[in-house]
Amino acid sequence: EAKNSGKGRVVWLERRETSRFARHAHIRRRLQLAVENSSFRLHYQTQLELSTGNSSSVEALLRWQDEELGDVPPAEFIPIAESVRLIHDIGRWVINEACGQARLWLDAGTPRTISINVSPIQLAADNVVADLTAALQAQAIPASLIRVEITESSAIADLPKASRQLRQLQAIGIRVDLDDFGTGYSSISMLRSLPLNTVKIDKSFIDDIDRSHHEASFVGGLIRAAHALGLKVTAEGVERREQLQVLRELGCDTAQGYLIAKPRTVTDLSAAPAFSLN
Ligand code: C2E
Ligand code: MG
Ligand code: MG
Ligand code: MG
Repeated sequence: EAKNSGKGRVVWLERRETSRFARHAHIRRRLQLAVENSSFRLHYQTQLELSTGNSSSVEALLRWQDEELGDVPPAEFIPIAESVRLIHDIGRWVINEACGQARLWLDAGTPRTISINVSPIQLAADNVVADLTAALQAQAIPASLIRVEITESSAIADLPKASRQLRQLQAIGIRVDLDDFGTGYSSISMLRSLPLNTVKIDKSFIDDIDRSHHEASFVGGLIRAAHALGLKVTAEGVERREQLQVLRELGCDTAQGYLIAKPRTVTDLSAAPAFSLN
């Protein structure tokens, strides 16, 4: 302890801050280039409908492999993109790419619904409705093939404004899912005040449902509350068969997680065998 409280620790902290700052700056520079060159990819993670075993819905997850930085996870570069407003261009790229893919799957006779993650900053800036409308038209795909995932923080910033935009999305037929429910600034009252179709319960609540009765009954309560409000429920981060079994008993609608499928490229997705519920 004494060793850590002296000058050495200050120097170490400064060095750590410096390297954090340097990496932030490096990512920002490379991200600018990546936006100009559209050097992003989307991976797709299957969502499993528990009552039917149907798995024709996927979530689009952004991937970025940079020549200098290697693979940078979205949890690291999305906040940086948000802080320098590159998120608007990136978000538009994601929307266009996902709608283009929806068109390709439709043409191939294997239509899939695609969920798109939308950043709080995008939602606050007003462009999302116009960008999505334009992309749906450009690809001539039905709005029912696209869903939007928002996080609770995005809704919090300006609740009336967020509600208005989400209602506009729903009016054109795009369904709205609340992501990571239970983390951040979540409250049950948000489920009542926001126009939503589905609640995605965060992985941290799902982790131990097969090992703890308390955790299972808590998630059961969340599912009943959501259902009482007319919302569907998706469980995130399902990694074990036993968790899936508990979720079926609790009446959860949809499950997503490594057990069912990891996020995959389009090619790998079509090659993979369908997950079987039994
Ligand atoms: P999210 O939207 O909650 O996505 C779920 C994350 O959990 C993904 O991480 C996914 O790969 C991971 N995951 C799925 N199943 C499991 C599992 O069973 N176990 C574990 N340990 N992890 C699982 P990923 O792809 O790294 O994305 C992280 C976050 O970055 C996303 O969380 C989302 O908030 C954000 N993100 C990803 N793509 C986009 C995008 O296109 N736009 C925006 N604005 N944000 C994005
Ligand atoms: Mg998501
Ligand atoms: Mg999530
Ligand atoms: Mg999450």
